[in-house]
Amino acid sequence: MERADIAIIGTGPAGISAAITSVIRNKKIILLGKKDLSQKMQKAEEIRNYPGFPKISGRDLAHAMTEHLESLNIEIMERQVTQVYAMGKYFSLQLAGKESGTDMAEADAVILATGVMPGKLLPGEEELLGNGLSYCATCDAPLYKGRRVAVIGYSPKEEEEAAFLGEVASQVIYIPVYKGEPRKMKNVEVVRAVPKAVKKGGAERIIETDREPVVTEGIFILRDSVSPGQLVPGLEMDGPHVKTDRSMKTNLPGLFACGDIAGLPYQYIKSAGEGNIAALSAVSYLGSL
Ligand SMILES: Cc1cc2nc3c(=O)[nH]c(=O)nc-3n(C[C@H](O)[C@H](O)[C@H](O)COP(=O)(O)OP(=O)(O)OC[C@H]3O[C@@H](n4cnc5c(N)ncnc54)[C@H](O)[C@@H]3O)c2cc1C
Repeated sequence: MERADIAIIGTGPAGISAAITSVIRNKKIILLGKKDLSQKMQKAEEIRNYPGFPKISGRDLAHAMTEHLESLNIEIMERQVTQVYAMGKYFSLQLAGKESGTDMAEADAVILATGVMPGKLLPGEEELLGNGLSYCATCDAPLYKGRRVAVIGYSPKEEEEAAFLGEVASQVIYIPVYKGEPRKMKNVEVVRAVPKAVKKGGAERIIETDREPVVTEGIFILRDSVSPGQLVPGLEMDGPHVKTDRSMKTNLPGLFACGDIAGLPYQYIKSAGEGNIAALSAVSYLGSL
């Protein structure tokens, strides 16, 4: 596996800006996120406070940023990062994305630009993580071969992961937390209920719902993003945000955070500005190795 200088996680304004500055500073990067950049950009009808664009839609701003990336030959690797491990002198990233299976990426420095996660964790989620609760079907499905599992899916795209689990587990209970009817999946039973909490009961993992509890041997919670404290073990948080200094350094040497994830106010230009600072700080860190 070829190691990058900097891995940038997230393709909102913070990640895009970090990628642009890193590449201009001749660093080899991997940019992980979505090709349509960020839902928060796609959904903004009219932006009036981004310098250079007096009145622009989020989609058009995303388009302009994509063109900027293309002009520098920066490609987006469309994968979700499920875990970042600090290995001492480098970082190892676990990637999910069904089409090409699970694999890992390595980088000397990491910039977290993952935005803030909408909604709250379920009560019990943090305690169970790694102990019968997983965020990545592709990564952890083999652990549940021939066993009964439940999947809480926060968007229709998670049906693909549930279908994959259906091929491995003895039975899958799928709880969609969105409107619309999930597609038919082999070995997958759809249960309409509102998850309220998760807990352990001996060898069983239980989802408390507004109806009957769902009792299985493993729980998968699949949503677009995971909280940064769970993504990076040992990362110091300040409430829902990653604790950084003004150079966007975190408590982990070589790991930087920028954009909404690094604190209020939630604004495009603040995110882009911090992405620039994070990249320059990462470049300076690489120079010190
Ligand atoms: C409807 C709406 C209108 C808004 N209007 C304005 C406005 O007019 N002016 C203004 O300044 N701000 C506005 N905002 C706020 C602005 O959208 C945010 O401040 C900005 O998008 C934050 O940028 P970011 O790069 O930090 O994060 P985001 O834009 O949230 O991008 C984060 C990216 O990281 C990806 N990601 C997350 N986790 C992972 C992972 N584990 N692996 C890979 N990728 C991951 C996400 O999918 C996403 O693509 C608006 C927001 C909304 C919702």
